[in-house]
Amino acid sequence: MIPYIDMHAHMVSRTTDDYRQMAMTGCVAITEPAFWAGWDRSTPEGFEDYFRQLTDFESKRAAEYGIRHYAWLCINPKEGHDRSMAQRVIERIPKFLDHPDVLGIGEIGLNKNTKNELATFRDHVNLAMEHEQLILIHTPHLEDKKKGTRLIIEALQSDPRVDPSRVLIDHAEEHTIEMIQDAGFWAGMTLYPVTKATPARAADLVEQYGPERLVVSSACDWGESAPMGVPNFIFEMRKRGHDEALIQRMVFGNQAAFLSQCSKFVTPRVGGWAEDLAGVD
Ligand SMILES: [Zn+2]
Repeated sequence: MIPYIDMHAHMVSRTTDDYRQMAMTGCVAITEPAFWAGWDRSTPEGFEDYFRQLTDFESKRAAEYGIRHYAWLCINPKEGHDRSMAQRVIERIPKFLDHPDVLGIGEIGLNKNTKNELATFRDHVNLAMEHEQLILIHTPHLEDKKKGTRLIIEALQSDPRVDPSRVLIDHAEEHTIEMIQDAGFWAGMTLYPVTKATPARAADLVEQYGPERLVVSSACDWGESAPMGVPNFIFEMRKRGHDEALIQRMVFGNQAAFLSQCSKFVTPRVGGWAEDLAGVD
């Protein structure tokens, strides 16, 4: 069994059955970005409770299944459109940044490519730079994706403090992967049964662009999505006859290389149990 790290999974929306399935199919670590819960929160305190859930509760739930759990914090792009709410949430983030399970700021980005969203995006980038954090980025859906990805790249490039090798731009697809990689950023493909990249489309993209600065994640959430996205990708790659070393790099090696840029990330000991690893109480 190939061990894997799911870098983008919204486990607060998933059941323990999902954790069990993920553990049984080789998942050894999960990183969970803060996101839109499917409904808008009414207060900044609501976000703070969510941050406590991500940092204090979810890691314990994952550890029951031998999975090491990390988090990324932010106000998501959709709710970030409300500038007053965004500012009040962002000022609550620094006190969580020393937590041993917090790897950086994410998933920030754009939803409908509005001016407000872009202003909130820049505030988050500034926060990440001030606190030397890794960044995980959400790119918009469907017709907004190409323009949104371009706006995000331009905003990042306008800040000389941003090192592109410390930024992952996620939900990349056929029409955005090249511009992300050409600018020196990491590209992520998120595997969905219908929307976004399917495991077969992701395998096509690995064949087209190679494994450099490219990762796959399930991005499972509260909607129609698949916590088995990464094992499905592994199956697809094997079916096509790719060697195990390439597959392992796509689901474990690249993730560990990117995440290890944060000193809090401990590369999981393959075959181990999360309770053996530092940081889980
Ligand atoms: Zn997400």
